[in-house]
Amino acid sequence: MGKRKKSTRNVGGSKKREPLDTVFKCLFCKHEKAVTCKISDGNATLICKICGQSFSCRTNALTAPIDVYSEWIDATEEVNAGA
Ligand SMILES: [Zn+2]
Repeated sequence: MGKRKKSTRNVGGSKKREPLDTVFKCLFCKHEKAVTCKISDGNATLICKICGQSFSCRTNALTAPIDVYSEWIDATEEVNAGA
């Protein structure tokens, strides 16, 4: 009765690699995946394809789209706080 269990474990054979997020939810019209981020030569631009809101800021070599998006959130909150 001694059927041996094979102890070969499949570790992470078909793990999907997620691409970096480059589309985000718009802070103004609240549409998911409406805001796209473009980074080029030290500048990043976020544009909402639904309502046309845009935001741009300086970047460095390590800046990812999500960082630009965070900047946008901060900037928006500042505006809201001041208004
Ligand atoms: Zn929008």
